[in-house]
Amino acid sequence: MNLNQLLVRAARSFPDRVAISHGTADYCDYGTLARRAAGLAGAMRGPLGLKVDDRVGLFMTNTPEYLEAFHGALHAGLTALPINNKLHEKELAYILDDAGAGVLIVTPDLAEKAAKGLEIAGSKARIVVVGDKEYAGFLAGDPMEMADRGDDDLAWLFYTSGTTGNPKGAMLSHRNLWEMTLTYFIDVDRVPTNGAALHPAPMSHGSGFYGIPHLAVGARQVVPESGGFEPDEIFELFQHHEEVSLFAAPTMVKRLVGHSGGGDAGNLRTVTYGGGPMYVADLKQALDRFGPKFVQVYGQGESPMCITVLPREDHVDTDHPRHEERLASVGYAQSVVDVKVADPDDNAVPVGEVGEILVRGAVVMRGYWNRPDASAESLRGGWLHTGDMGAFDDDGYLTLKDRSKDMIISGGSNIYPREIEEVLLRHPDVLECAVVGRPHAEWGEEVIAFIAPSEGTEVDTSALDQLCLDNIARFKRPKGYRVAAALPKNNYGKIVKRELRNMLEAEEEGDA
Ligand code: AMP
Repeated sequence: MNLNQLLVRAARSFPDRVAISHGTADYCDYGTLARRAAGLAGAMRGPLGLKVDDRVGLFMTNTPEYLEAFHGALHAGLTALPINNKLHEKELAYILDDAGAGVLIVTPDLAEKAAKGLEIAGSKARIVVVGDKEYAGFLAGDPMEMADRGDDDLAWLFYTSGTTGNPKGAMLSHRNLWEMTLTYFIDVDRVPTNGAALHPAPMSHGSGFYGIPHLAVGARQVVPESGGFEPDEIFELFQHHEEVSLFAAPTMVKRLVGHSGGGDAGNLRTVTYGGGPMYVADLKQALDRFGPKFVQVYGQGESPMCITVLPREDHVDTDHPRHEERLASVGYAQSVVDVKVADPDDNAVPVGEVGEILVRGAVVMRGYWNRPDASAESLRGGWLHTGDMGAFDDDGYLTLKDRSKDMIISGGSNIYPREIEEVLLRHPDVLECAVVGRPHAEWGEEVIAFIAPSEGTEVDTSALDQLCLDNIARFKRPKGYRVAAALPKNNYGKIVKRELRNMLEAEEEGDA
């Protein structure tokens, strides 16, 4: 069934409810959103010349029009291809070429970059700029009937963030997104009809996924006027809207916690965080600041938002004997997936042992776009191989142990950087840190910690060394520190360890 059925139903049954707010202002109701999406769909399949299943690129700043375009594509029976708007034009070109997008819908601020991307890709895709006269004509054009879609037809082609190699397009079907949507209500939160999904994070990623359960119940989606993450504005929107939920990367949570001007959190209901490691020290501060409002999800584009969940209750159950461990974990398997920690032959390893995390269930992608070999490899034996390493405890709580390539092997022992990072972050002078391995003639690898200091502080590495000695085995403690004003991040705010390793390599070359 076409996922856009949710919007069609909303328009029939509660057309006057506000569907989208732009900042504090109402932007449109459900009836209007559905009509615009159907008009745009008619244009895509008519004047824009797209056929069923063709890809429609969305290269857009977070704006209300993003939702028109996304639902327009689904309505028309096309595959939405949301693209991170911070990508470089060469990265954009790669995705456009790989996915073979026929139309690229852009916000005006990105039109030039989009044109360059198309040129590099040698693509003949049509650019449609939202807000201009042509676009207005499309919205007002003849609405089309919603296209019928089978469960396995593609809805969203999700390009992985590509911290290793070129990004690949995870093929997400209508069924995958229905599963993701329904699972939100079981595992993450119940959405009240007066609720609001706030989108400071890119809608091409987790925030966009979590807009759908809000649409499903006729709640509203709130797009900040700035189109992104501005703490002052976020706090203002917490005051203005009711029952506000948002998806946030851990770095965003940290910035909200540290924001001095914020005041109280107003009508904040739920912060779902994930997409990268949340360190215990940071999480505790966030709980102190905002109260019991946090839910963690662990997922990946290939199993959108759905691998494990650490629910709200576990965040605040401070009397539980394993409270701390739970805060350091990613929680237990979400209700619609089976999660296994396996050895290289895909056999489950005993509780407490580290292995690769495998997932199966109806939410898991169909495969990678145009990559039969990578798809077969990734989905072998009917399990998605996440590339993440982790271990279960007796209660089925999973702790992530860094991706396999980030693990350090020193003197024959496996060292998981996360464990050292957790300790270093307890020091108030450490704002951010990342631990990587550097090749070492005798030990194989040695541990190096990169530190970004908190504002106005200077990091005393001997204090950090002592902190490590007090908390973790000697062999794990960093043999060297590098202090930098900021750590390199990708477009989703994740620290790119590959770049840190390159920096160390460059140092070696400089020494030679
Ligand atoms: P993406 O496909 O861009 O969403 O990236 C997915 C990857 O982000 C996963 O494979 C994990 O390595 C990481 N990730 C996602 N959620 C979490 C989480 N809650 N804690 C730690 N890492 C996470």
